[in-house]
Amino acid sequence: MEKFAGAEEWVPPRGGLPKLEAALRDCRGCDLWEHAEQVVPGDGTAKARMMLVGEQPGDVEDVEGRVFVGPAGRLLDKALDAAGIDRDQLYVTNAVKHFRFERRGKRRIHKTPAAGHIVACSPWLTRELRIVKPELVVVLGAVAARALLGTGFKVTERRGEAVELPDGTAAMATVHPSAVVRSEEYRRDFALFVADLRAAAALLP
Ligand code: SF4
Repeated sequence: MEKFAGAEEWVPPRGGLPKLEAALRDCRGCDLWEHAEQVVPGDGTAKARMMLVGEQPGDVEDVEGRVFVGPAGRLLDKALDAAGIDRDQLYVTNAVKHFRFERRGKRRIHKTPAAGHIVACSPWLTRELRIVKPELVVVLGAVAARALLGTGFKVTERRGEAVELPDGTAAMATVHPSAVVRSEEYRRDFALFVADLRAAAALLP
């Protein structure tokens, strides 16, 4: 695994989300900041009972500087709506805060963050969890699962199951919405994703 210094020295030990967001802009904890347009912080209320964690910003998010505003974000909004969950009541973030990509001509093609990037960026996610203190974390896809539930956790085998993060916070894993966007069986996979979100909301005490 490629090793990076990690984000620890940039993460403020105290303060709320605005302080976290300001500090995030200076992070040089791994090499992903060098080619990305900007860092993409989490978004939502610190009072959220439910926190959603995705993978990394995509092309649109990197340009706009906002989380889940590209095709996957639009699908997420649609699915949350269908599941009766108000996005304004959530806190939504990513396991890795800068966009990793490969250039092909003028296009920037998404590249999955390496294990070293996930580890390097994890202090930000840990701090977000401490600030928001969600009652339930919805883990979106394999990268978020690796960050929060460890390398042995397979989303394909355990999606929709009630699980716990190492600190005891209730959690559930499902696919990343980009997998539904790309699916050849869109209707079926969208319905399954909505069902997982509904089941997650039902886990809230
Ligand atoms: S991806 Fe995370 S650790 Fe790497 S530079 Fe960006 S914020 Fe820092």
